[in-house]
Amino acid sequence: MKDFHEFFLMSIEDVKRYAVEVLHKFEPDEETECVEIGDGNINYVFRIWSKRDGHSVIVKQADKLLRSSGRPLDIYRNKIEASILQLEGQLAPGYVPEVYYYDETMAATSMEDVSAFKNLRKELAANRVYPHLAENISTFMADTLLPTTDLVLDRAEKKKRVKFYTNPELCEITEDLVLTEPYDDFRGRNIITAGNEDFVREFLYEDQQLHAEVGKLRERFMNNAQALIHGDLHSGSIFANEEGIRVLDPEFAFYGPMGYDIGNVIGNLFFSWANKAFTMPEETGAIQALERTIRDTCDLTMKKLAEKYDQLVTFSLYRAPGFRKAYLDSVWADSLGYAGTEIIRRTVGDSKVMEVSSVTDPTLRIPMERALVKLGITLIKQRETLRDGSGVVSAFRLILS
Ligand code: ADP
Ligand code: MG
Repeated sequence: MKDFHEFFLMSIEDVKRYAVEVLHKFEPDEETECVEIGDGNINYVFRIWSKRDGHSVIVKQADKLLRSSGRPLDIYRNKIEASILQLEGQLAPGYVPEVYYYDETMAATSMEDVSAFKNLRKELAANRVYPHLAENISTFMADTLLPTTDLVLDRAEKKKRVKFYTNPELCEITEDLVLTEPYDDFRGRNIITAGNEDFVREFLYEDQQLHAEVGKLRERFMNNAQALIHGDLHSGSIFANEEGIRVLDPEFAFYGPMGYDIGNVIGNLFFSWANKAFTMPEETGAIQALERTIRDTCDLTMKKLAEKYDQLVTFSLYRAPGFRKAYLDSVWADSLGYAGTEIIRRTVGDSKVMEVSSVTDPTLRIPMERALVKLGITLIKQRETLRDGSGVVSAFRLILS
């Protein structure tokens, strides 16, 4: 029987044994069940629970090869993921699963089972737009982002962290799939809905002004080591129920612009709104709740970041009101810009969101995609002039009207 002193990809039976022998989560004679629940295309996620009293644990194992394409991927990403989960747990207690054990040899992170919370993307699809979402998501972002900057952290410590969290392969995925290909399709990987080819060519491939703005956002993504960001904060990484939220899956984490996280959240909320606006316009309650959630997520995040700033930033030059304003304004502008790039890439790129791909009727899909692309472009081009959450919501209402 294999022991766990050398990396191998675990089967269900291996994981059950691992949970006893390595994690000591169950007695050797305790009967357990185990299922692989990973829905991502990168890693293996196992849930193991006791048949005696139901207590459970999650084991997430990274493979050296991408699950979907077989492409090799450095398993160091898993070390980054375990470490940022622990850090987020300290900065925003209760918002992420507790890490029980990180096993470098097995590239496995064992953590709290948060199955009581459900995938936010699916909850929103089922019209469960929890009223607490904006409050909780904004708290999570403000609490985890600003304290990791060198406005707050000791500068030597911050540079050490920048090095530790350097995540070149996962960043490359974002740089290509989010911040390049939607605008030039250089690898031919975009998937354009029939009927929208001319629209995409004109609005995305041929607009030099748009290219310049996306170029700026791409360069900032690569060079602005501002804060330790989650890196993949879409609504499938956020789990929710009536009580609150849990944030999972930070394997794209690195030191980058905090607006990238904020923009991902905002951008993904818009998919749900767009989907409902086109496929279930009668669901006015859920649509209004989404509008409010987007508006409040924008405004509360900026308000809480400003409050954190006033609490935590002590360096004299950074206390100058003009600097503070310029800093927060640039975070806001980044957030809108990256919301825009997220919306566009999930609409025309190969990694679509359920809210887009589930719409199969072309008479709905074509105009929905156009509305989303126009919204993305507006957010990118007007990121320095749109003032607040109401402005952002109004921009989409205008496009839909
Ligand atoms: P990947 O990196 O492969 O995308 P994720 O971390 O997103 O993997 O996990 C895949 C799925 O496994 C999640 O969507 C969720 O359903 C489940 N999952 C992951 N971690 C936990 C956890 N701590 N508790 C409960 N379910 C989890
Ligand atoms: Mg993932």
